[in-house]
Amino acid sequence: MKEFVYLDNAATTKVRPEVVEAMLPYFTEIYGNASAVYDFGQKCKQAIEDARETIGSSIGTKASNIYFTAGGSESDNWALKGVAEAYKDKGKHIITTKIEHHAILHTCAYLEQQGYEVTYLDVDADGLVSPEDVKKAIRPDTILISVMFANNEIGTIEPIEEIGAIAHEHGILFHTDAVQAYAQVPIDVEKMHIDLLSASGHKLNGPKGIGFLYIRQGLKLKSFIHGGAQERKRRAGTENVPGIVGLDKAVEIAMATMDERIKKESELRDYLIARIEDEIPFAKLNGHRVKRLPNNINFCFRFIEGESMLIMLDMAGICGSSGSACTSGSLDPSHVLLAIGLPHEIAHGSLRLTLSDEITKEQLDYVVDHLKEIVAKLRSMSPLYEDYAKKHLS
Ligand SMILES: *Cc1c(COP(=O)(O)O)cnc(C)c1O
Repeated sequence: MKEFVYLDNAATTKVRPEVVEAMLPYFTEIYGNASAVYDFGQKCKQAIEDARETIGSSIGTKASNIYFTAGGSESDNWALKGVAEAYKDKGKHIITTKIEHHAILHTCAYLEQQGYEVTYLDVDADGLVSPEDVKKAIRPDTILISVMFANNEIGTIEPIEEIGAIAHEHGILFHTDAVQAYAQVPIDVEKMHIDLLSASGHKLNGPKGIGFLYIRQGLKLKSFIHGGAQERKRRAGTENVPGIVGLDKAVEIAMATMDERIKKESELRDYLIARIEDEIPFAKLNGHRVKRLPNNINFCFRFIEGESMLIMLDMAGICGSSGSACTSGSLDPSHVLLAIGLPHEIAHGSLRLTLSDEITKEQLDYVVDHLKEIVAKLRSMSPLYEDYAKKHLS
């Protein structure tokens, strides 16, 4: 029987029913403008401030350091362009990595056009950034270090606390794109020396088009959207009250369930990884085996195109991804897989499966059964595979 198994939670997630329920009154009943003086508007203002409180405490900071944005991409753009603009008299050098999301990489490319210099750090074969490399890349004119908390393709969790400590020893600001890691693993901005942190609602069972940027108190940062006085005059625009209320609810649930989700998802993750490694030949796990998001599985299957695999999985009702959601559709292999040293032809055959807390072991068995057949079928059409298998499978 054909099932529906959604394993693309790194691309986006299902909004929880409790989240929808919390949002609904803010469309049709409490729809006031949060800037208005009457009580009706003030109710919206209160909901926004409650959300700020929930989110602030989820990362160990005050509510007043949380600024709502339209999502992860906006938060990343704001952090980088905002620091670049505000600190340009101090210097014009930024350090980041080769495996960042395009919201960071393309913003850095834009800043390079504006006369900034960017160092893109290499990663090791597991996708880890070396704190030592960060230290070596620092120059007198370095104003910002931006390293993602966890990678969206291969799930590797970076040594954020060590990198943050290095940044602060040198008096340099530290930003992390935590869109994949936030509410999936514990984060403490004080302990980890984080000055700016980006997160997004739709990656944690909240609505799309809402996110936030944490900005350390006292940090100079140019406002990104000019207009009204919302968000302490730093981000103009009538607040997305339903989105903010939905994000509040999603964060509340995610934080309350984090420990059990980590346990459940990492067990299922390791189960799926073990079955694939045991039952499908020439399958290579990408990303760090242990320092890894609890819900991420990423494999390369030699002699196979990722896209063909996705189409055949889709016919069995299974949603996965090859490369990142933003790059699929293009034929370039993922910049992340190239950065961990995979050759082009292998990087093309990658498959990312990302779990949610609704996934069951039975569903994963269904996935492996189909995956085995699909990989075998696609390989049977490859003359290269036949030769290779003869040599390497006894
Ligand atoms: C999804 C994602 C983004 C972009 O977030 P949006 O809310 O979709 O704009 C940025 N960085 C990472 C690591 C992501 O996974």
